[in-house]
Amino acid sequence: MPHAHDNSIIIAGEALPIIDMPIHARWRDAADRRGFDITARVADRYALALTCRLCGELSRTRLFVLMNHQPRCSYCIEAARRQEAENAGIAFLRRDSDSTVYAWYRLPCGHEARRQIGLITRVAAGETGLRCATCHEAVEAAEAQAVGWELVGPDPGGDTNYREYRHVSCGHRQRIARGNVKTQRFDCGGCGVTWVSAPSFIYLFRVLLPNGMRVLKLGFSKNPRSRLQHQLLGDRDLACHVLRVVAMPSGHDAIRTEKKLHASLRRRFPEAVIDAKDFAGALTVVTEVYAEWLEAEIQQLLDGIEDDSDDEGG
Ligand SMILES: [Zn+2]
Ligand SMILES: [Zn+2]
Ligand SMILES: [Zn+2]
Repeated sequence: MPHAHDNSIIIAGEALPIIDMPIHARWRDAADRRGFDITARVADRYALALTCRLCGELSRTRLFVLMNHQPRCSYCIEAARRQEAENAGIAFLRRDSDSTVYAWYRLPCGHEARRQIGLITRVAAGETGLRCATCHEAVEAAEAQAVGWELVGPDPGGDTNYREYRHVSCGHRQRIARGNVKTQRFDCGGCGVTWVSAPSFIYLFRVLLPNGMRVLKLGFSKNPRSRLQHQLLGDRDLACHVLRVVAMPSGHDAIRTEKKLHASLRRRFPEAVIDAKDFAGALTVVTEVYAEWLEAEIQQLLDGIEDDSDDEGG
């Protein structure tokens, strides 16, 4: 009884008066069964200071709770929360003052976030992931900035796939699907700039398929890297390499040029056209994939296209 000489006992930073009344044997039996020792009667006739046998810390419990339920040691609970957070790859900071269902955590990016404790349990079990809203918004803002728009906020219509954006060059605001912002496939309702008339690119990628085959993908895009990442790759782990990107004055030019290229390649090198069954599941396209040995030929054709557009420009 470390506190027997005092007339008070400190529990969770609070000094509680010790009540000098008997501690009955059946109370001690109940505490014993629940994994606690009764250290003192405190506060009023119906409260006890219990010492947790697991962690040795004191907690205050109503006599009624001890006799009828399993008292919970807040230190052990918090230790479990810390361990669970660690298993989820984050750090437990503190309990939430408004809700027992929530707690505050430090995410790997350094941001603090309030999350449901049950969610962290599922993250620790590998059932779901955890996303930082602050960082995620920064990513979306950067995506918009990269294509000349500004992220204003959530969709006024409430669709979670959409956001509200502002066209920096004309000031017009409109709602656009986030996926279309990433790939620039949208038109401005203010100044009339369309994704078809905006500059475009012919690209050539080399892709290593899961079956070990190396192939070439020739196509057009407003944003070749985005095309590579968001549309082309069914399997994100494919080894991919951007071999060449040729700027075209508009999407129309890019589409027309690309179609001519494919027609010419198919006619002259039919044996270089890769059968769709060879890349099914690996690439999200069904045509326009060529054998790697055709690279020099394609590069030469792209040289010609580049020269042509230089001539037109100068
Ligand atoms: Zn404990
Ligand atoms: Zn963050
Ligand atoms: Zn505009």
